[in-house]
Amino acid sequence: MKDINNHISRTLKSLRQTRHWSLDKAAEKTGVSKAMLGQIERGESSPTIATLWKIASGFQTSFSSFIEEIHPHINEPIHRSGTAHQFHPNDNKIRVMPLFPFDKQLNFELFVIELLPGCEHLSLPHEVGTIEHVIVIQGKIEIFANKLWHALSKGEGFRFKANQPHGYRNLTKRTACIHDIIHYPKKRLTSRIK
Ligand code: MN
Repeated sequence: MKDINNHISRTLKSLRQTRHWSLDKAAEKTGVSKAMLGQIERGESSPTIATLWKIASGFQTSFSSFIEEIHPHINEPIHRSGTAHQFHPNDNKIRVMPLFPFDKQLNFELFVIELLPGCEHLSLPHEVGTIEHVIVIQGKIEIFANKLWHALSKGEGFRFKANQPHGYRNLTKRTACIHDIIHYPKKRLTSRIK
């Protein structure tokens, strides 16, 4: 928990330095208040999942890079299990586990996400060109995309452009589990972040 908060605060600081963004500019780009960004950078406050998504989208970077980075060696297989992180007490209905954090070569990240009964998570648009593939592993969920809620059952998949308002909810009484694979657009060298 503390390690994650340190990593979040370091990542935010370094992104802001790389972009030469003031706190004002970062607040304008992310929709997160200057005061909150300052608190996160100083490690005084842990962001909710929704806030962290706003920050990642505002900086046009991946969500998982705020939590963990992996440096895949192309010849070695990677065997991992998902670790549930709860960043903030308000996130009591959703658990996000980066099973494969952002991969710079392939431009994707893969999350295992648990949506508890009554969970509704809405997300602002990600960077243009971002595509999500959601696969239901357990239970039933609904995904909001193209201005409609779409019902999905176990084993079903859903692909959508994520540069639009979108969301995930569980209206049932059982915990649901999904895999969410997020592909980001390739960056031109001049604008490459890391
Ligand atoms: Mn999303």
